[in-house]
Amino acid sequence: MSALRAGFIGLGAMGGHMATNLARAGLLGGVWNRTPAKAEALARELGVTAHATAEDLAADVEVTVLCVSADSDVLQVGESIAPSLRPGSIVIDCSTVSAETARRMASLCAARGAGFLDCPVSGGVEGARLGTLAIMCGGEGEVFEKARPVLAAMGKTVELMGPCGHGQATKATNQILCAGVIAAVGEAMAFAKAEGLPLDKVISTLGQGAGSSWYFVHRAPYMSRGDFPAGFRVRLHRKDLLICRDMAHRHGAELPTVSSVLDQYDQLIANGHGDEDISSIFRLKTRLFDAEQD
Ligand code: NAP
Repeated sequence: MSALRAGFIGLGAMGGHMATNLARAGLLGGVWNRTPAKAEALARELGVTAHATAEDLAADVEVTVLCVSADSDVLQVGESIAPSLRPGSIVIDCSTVSAETARRMASLCAARGAGFLDCPVSGGVEGARLGTLAIMCGGEGEVFEKARPVLAAMGKTVELMGPCGHGQATKATNQILCAGVIAAVGEAMAFAKAEGLPLDKVISTLGQGAGSSWYFVHRAPYMSRGDFPAGFRVRLHRKDLLICRDMAHRHGAELPTVSSVLDQYDQLIANGHGDEDISSIFRLKTRLFDAEQD
């Protein structure tokens, strides 16, 4: 069986690396980006086609992968490429958006006889570069199996979570977890600081304990240093938590952890910290102990 021919739309911080990994696996035929210079440069580097339009790309490949920003961007791209999709082809959306957007994309694709998978990713820019992303997928089993080589080229853990929308619902679950954990880590570290504890020893000791987590081990050191270099940006997590909040509202539920962290992110953004790592929530937690600190 010949290899699938894939195309990539959205060559941002994540998409550029993901497309590169598809090229390394011999699966990438072409790329398209809204700002053409990025696509031209990457296409030259990878020896693939820089398509003039997203529609041209979709018409040329069996699998179209998108990684753009928010719900409206995914739908805008989906509506523009739908008329060009080949029957039997597959669209994979790796952006973090709502389950509802995934279902709207699936029906746009189905109207052209194409399959759709919602496949948001976790693992950050580093995971995208190394091809070690966790990819949580929603869609039909048959479509998923056909697309598996493309997904396997971009991620290490690739899991079908259920029907369309279940990939995004799983990603939203992860974002709620991250919100609660980073808020708890920030609060605990601010408390430890106020108590005058040696923060590095707190991290190395409690990092082995039952209250530990990835965020405690890897992000409490940022808090201890008071430096929050961009990793998972406050602005991006805020976008994801708004999706979580809206999805919960569809069940008639209010999520207190999500609401509280959203309020805190709004304060951080208003104070110019929106492009810092989410561990900068520590800035607000220390204020609980010292009103003069920023
Ligand atoms: P990014 O660096 O801002 O890149 C966004 C890409 O989408 C750019 O190529 C941009 O084109 C394109 N785009 C945006 N709106 C578009 C539209 N309406 N039409 C066509 N293209 C459009 O973002 P990123 O960090 O790669 O994130 C992409 C997605 O992955 C987001 O949904 C994000 O939540 C998710 N994600 C990100 C991370 C992370 O650590 N960064 C981790 C997991 C998941 P231009 O070049 O023209 O602007």
